[in-house]
Amino acid sequence: MRTWKILMAGLGLLSAAPSPALAKVHVFACAPEWGALAEEIGGVHVEVFVATTARQDVHHVRAKPSLLVAMRKADLVVCSGAALESGWLPILLKKAGGPDVQPATAGYLMASDFVPLIGARKEADRSLGHIHPEGNPHVHLNPNNLLPVARVLAERLLILDPDNLEDYSGSFKRFETGWMALVASWKEAAAGLEGAKVVVYHDAWAYLLDWLGIEKIASLEPKPGLPPTASHLEAVLQAVDGRDVRAILVAPYEDGKAADWLSGRTGIPVLRLPYTVGGSEDANDIESLFAETMEMLKGVR
Ligand SMILES: [Zn+2]
Repeated sequence: MRTWKILMAGLGLLSAAPSPALAKVHVFACAPEWGALAEEIGGVHVEVFVATTARQDVHHVRAKPSLLVAMRKADLVVCSGAALESGWLPILLKKAGGPDVQPATAGYLMASDFVPLIGARKEADRSLGHIHPEGNPHVHLNPNNLLPVARVLAERLLILDPDNLEDYSGSFKRFETGWMALVASWKEAAAGLEGAKVVVYHDAWAYLLDWLGIEKIASLEPKPGLPPTASHLEAVLQAVDGRDVRAILVAPYEDGKAADWLSGRTGIPVLRLPYTVGGSEDANDIESLFAETMEMLKGVR
């Protein structure tokens, strides 16, 4: 094979073959927010596969054949990490991931490795019966967290595809400038939300609430990943009593029954925020995800 290539090159026949520089970087994103960020930074040089939709619970995903096919092609895997995808991503990596997308390679990017984790634990602990054993993995909902992740994404892309180095660093710089201005304007417009109280179904909103200074009074899940029980819901009902709780936050993929029950008993409105790109009609990229979320949160004041 090698001799053949040398011979062909000598004859000038390889020049007609597609240049490796034109090949796209295949990005495997575990969730829509990471797919959208990879599109922002990678532009025309990446082909992004998104493994889940906003209607899927990313804690629980089946390692189905279509995901294996996509993983086989992947040059870069971008996920939340902190055990959010621990039920399925390791299976895909083991069965179909190449050597260059395994943990500790440039092709393996876990966003939670690059931001401060809320509730971080020194050692993973599943004995508590919940699904956040390393800390809260839903890091994308603090928009400030997207900057360090976008920076690492650009760094990884230029390692994997050095021919387009200038494009990657240029698109990161543009993203950084635009994003900082947007985040500042959202935060300013949301000043009235500081100190507002909410109930959540699952701790998917920890970073959003932390960023905006909104206080979580209770979760409808007794522990992350455990479905609401009658006794826990009674305790939540007592906890919210007389506390001016403004909304019950629910993600598009979550069962609304417990939230509806609490809403029916208290009059607190249920707010189904988009959570990720595609989680509502207008949340179709990373910017509109936040614009839409901020618009919907106006009702919480
Ligand atoms: Zn979770």
